[in-house]
Order: sequence, then C-alpha cells, then structure tokens
Amino acid sequence: MSQINRRVFSKKLGHGIAGTALLSNMPYAIGKNTSKKDNKLGIALVGLGSYSTGQLAPGLVNAKHCYLAGIVTGTPSKEKIWMEQYDIPKANVYNYDNFDEIAKNDDIDIVYVVLPNSMHAEFCIRAAKAGKHVICEKPMAVSVAECDTIIQACETAGVKLSVGYRMQSDPYTNEIKRLVREKTFGDVHYVSSDAGYISRGNPDQWRLHHALSGGGALMNMGVYAIQSNIYGTGTNPISVAAQEFSTMPEYFKDTDETITAQMQFPNGVVGNLFTSHNANSNRLFVNFSKGWAELNPCHNYGPLAGKTSDGTEIKFPHQSQQMLQMDDFALHIQTGSTNYAPGEMGKRDMIIVEAIYQSIKEDGKTIALNLGTMGIVKHF
Ligand code: NAD
Repeated sequence: MSQINRRVFSKKLGHGIAGTALLSNMPYAIGKNTSKKDNKLGIALVGLGSYSTGQLAPGLVNAKHCYLAGIVTGTPSKEKIWMEQYDIPKANVYNYDNFDEIAKNDDIDIVYVVLPNSMHAEFCIRAAKAGKHVICEKPMAVSVAECDTIIQACETAGVKLSVGYRMQSDPYTNEIKRLVREKTFGDVHYVSSDAGYISRGNPDQWRLHHALSGGGALMNMGVYAIQSNIYGTGTNPISVAAQEFSTMPEYFKDTDETITAQMQFPNGVVGNLFTSHNANSNRLFVNFSKGWAELNPCHNYGPLAGKTSDGTEIKFPHQSQQMLQMDDFALHIQTGSTNYAPGEMGKRDMIIVEAIYQSIKEDGKTIALNLGTMGIVKHF
C-alpha cells in the first residue's frame, strides 16, 4: 500500500469510529464529511482573517484534490463558527500555542499560513518541523534571509513548499505565458504591469505597519506586478531602478504608498511596474514585435478579461483561482506534477523587492540582479 493510500485508509478508519459515536446527533454532517475526504489531502488554514474567510475556505469547498481539514486561530470565538460551517472536528482545531501538536494529526497533510507577513517564517518553519507540507501566503516573508530559513526548514523536514501565488494557476495568466513562449506575436519588447488599490480605513491595520508587513504597496500588491513582468517576458530581470511617491504621508506613515520601477530583461526587453496603496490599477500589457496582449483586469480574483491585437478575446470560464492553486499543489504532492509556485519563486521575488527598496534608498540607482532562471517554472 502506498503512503497516500495508507493514509487515506487510516483516515477512513478513524472517521468510521468517530462517526459511530456522533452519528445519532449529526448524521448529515458525518455523511458529508466522509465522502468529501476520499483521496483528498487535508489542509489546515493558519489565520482566519479576510483571505481565509472570503477566498481560501470557499475555494476548498469545490476542490478536487484537497479539503479544509483543520484550522489554527488565535480567536476562540471563531472556532465554533468554522467547525459548524466546514464540518471540522474539534480535534483538528488549534491555536497559536498548541499548533505544534498538529504533528500528531494525520488528517492534516498541508498547513497553509495566512497570517501577517512578519509571521509567515515562524509558522512555516513550525509547520515544516511538524512534518506538514507548507503553503506560505505572499509575500513569502519580510526578507530574503527569512525566505531562506523557510526553504531550509522544508528541505530539512523533507516536505514540499509552495507560495500562495494564485495567479500561477489562473488560465488567463497561463494564456499570456503561452503567447510569450510560442512567440505567437513575435518577440516580447516591452511589458507594463500595474497592481494597486486605494487603501483607507483603520490606520492601525497591520498592512500599514512595517513591523508586521515588512513594507507597503510593494510587499502587498507589487509582488503581483513583479510576477506579471516576469511571466510577460518569460525571463527574470537583470536590473531594476525604482522611485517612491508619497502624497498622503500622514496616513502612510510607516509603509510605502506608491512605487514605480523599471526593469531590464535580457535581449533589451524593458519592463515597467506600478504599485500603490493609493491608486486603483490592475493591468498587464505585453508588446511583442508583431502585436500585443492585454489582461485588464489582471490581478484580482476574477473574472479576469483579456484581448490580443488581432481582435481575439482571451476568455475562460470563471473558476476560483484559490481552488485551482490548492489543487495544483495537492496534485504536486500526490503525483509529483509541477509545483507552479515553489519557494524559490517567492525568494526570487523578495530579492527583487529588496533591490527596489535599495534603489529607492539610493535615489533611483540601477541595481543589478543576478537571478539566472531562479523561480522560472515551465508550464509545458
Ligand atoms: P487579515 O488582517 O484579514 O487577517 C490576518 C489574520 O491574522 C487574522 O485572522 C488575525 O487575527 C491574525 N493575526 C494574528 N496575529 C496578528 C497580528 N499581530 N496582527 C494582525 N493580525 C494577526 O489579513 P489577510 O488579508 O487575510 O492577509 C493574510 C495574509 O494573506 C497576508 O500575508 C496577505 O498578504 C495574504 N493575502 C494574500 C492574498 C492573495 O491574493 N494571495 C489576498 C489577501 C491576503
């Protein structure tokens, strides 16, 4: 019996026993729970904030290869609500203190860390030490050094690591990659990518505090624009120069408000990046030698939209990007298929983020990058 099959078998056995005791109270819940789990990997979400609540947990409901098996929360009042809504047994509920006990829980195969950025490294490392595969939300951490500690911990523990880059599993994004790869419109000459939104409201939110976020717009939305520049050219940048704009310093006291950056790619290709917490922007434009392709909107949860210079509409049925992303990672674990967002990709983007901040500190100086093919994942 393979490891996966043994685990599925023991899971079924375990639920059968628990089911006997609970059947009289919750027959429907147990029936639903058991059928849902067949051959699927169990995911535990760590941090039940807006992204887990609004996107990840709903995305898991229809996932084919994984399901929501557990939760880790620092807010006791959320436990009952989540247990009821997603049919999660009490034994699969943890808090930040007893989280390490998850090592003993065979229901949980993957731990998905969805906490403020400065907490990613600690919880990813604890998850790896517990022997669980890891998905780390973007940005992967608050520094390249922290990315290294996560990658090292996963390697040491022999577990798989992925970053929460949902766009890497999105069909629109993959269509752009295909046009670039197949040179449908010739060679790429210029890419422009924007990712921003107007942030208002609670000035105490963690995203506006450097100690928790590691930075502002660039750390939050800028990583999407970095990613689109890279899949819009099919290569990593060889240098970057950047500028910061501040129009509301009283609100954006501690983190960057708006950043622009210019990247040079091999063969004279140029990339432009815009990211902001004070302007709506959500577009990728790729200029080829014989035409162009555009996604607009490009980085939101969808439905996305796109077109090319020959009048073709880029259109796919809308599916949860988060569902596709988590299913891709579960399949990677189960079958050895491609990991579309490996830790190396998250680290590469953090190297670019640090270079952008360095350039700003040095008045827009061009910073050379030596990334080679780091984090470039082939989709064919
Ligand atoms: P959120 O503020 O809605 O939730 C944060 C969660 O962390 C909450 O449950 C909160 O209780 C918990 N938490 C624990 N310690 C905390 C502390 N000291 N300060 C604040 N909260 C604390 O945030 P979110 O939007 O869910 O973002 C969480 C992570 O997910 C971030 O890394 C973010 O970048 C990422 N994210 C990714 C996407 C995506 O599209 N991939 C979208 C949204 C968020």
